[in-house]
Amino acid sequence: MPDAERADHPVVFLASRNTKKIAEMQRILAEHVPGIEVLGLDDVAPYDEPPETEPTFEGNALIKARAGVTATGLPSIADDSGLCVDALNGMPGVLSARWAGTAKDDAANNRLLLEQLDDVPDERRTAHFTCAVAFVRPVGDETVEHVVHGEMPGRVIRELRGSGGFGYDVLFVADDTLARGEERTSAELPAAEKDAISHRGRALRALAPVVAEALART
Ligand code: IMP
Repeated sequence: MPDAERADHPVVFLASRNTKKIAEMQRILAEHVPGIEVLGLDDVAPYDEPPETEPTFEGNALIKARAGVTATGLPSIADDSGLCVDALNGMPGVLSARWAGTAKDDAANNRLLLEQLDDVPDERRTAHFTCAVAFVRPVGDETVEHVVHGEMPGRVIRELRGSGGFGYDVLFVADDTLARGEERTSAELPAAEKDAISHRGRALRALAPVVAEALART
């Protein structure tokens, strides 16, 4: 049983190694659960991470969160997200991270996206980021599951811009940004500004009260 489970403050596990994601989750949850600690994959004993074999964001988030509970015994959170482009029938979708073949090659993924949309006119370059976050917690011998979703609609531009964010951020201008009369990509927004409108920020903020209520009952 991990030391964290014996902690005198609430602890949840986020099945991620991304320190920015863990910090964002910690900030958002702490507003609802004072003193909460969010542990990531690097804070717990290593375990075999399951392959993301489901065709939906929700299914993959659940696979990862369930594995987190099995491995750590802690209430576990996992997210799965990606970019869905209307002119590509929702692709790359759940394949976003590995669309160009190699996992997490952002530059190759962005090149492929530009190529695929080369002859698509500006008005048809609409897309949205989407994020599913699963929260799975042990209750007695069972587990209780909850999934929330968040979206960030926008459009794909024709050249890479900005150095912040990650993934497809350099090619994506959010509708919320455009509505302010700005053409900055998500990679040109300060992190807090992106969090305020992002698919992940929205999903995590929707999840926070659910986690607070669940932890208050245990
Ligand atoms: P993950 O679920 O966070 O691992 O994201 C899967 C993939 O979707 C990433 O590798 C990116 O290609 C893409 N993606 C998800 N969220 C974002 C985002 O906020 N900005 C840019 N790309 C993203």
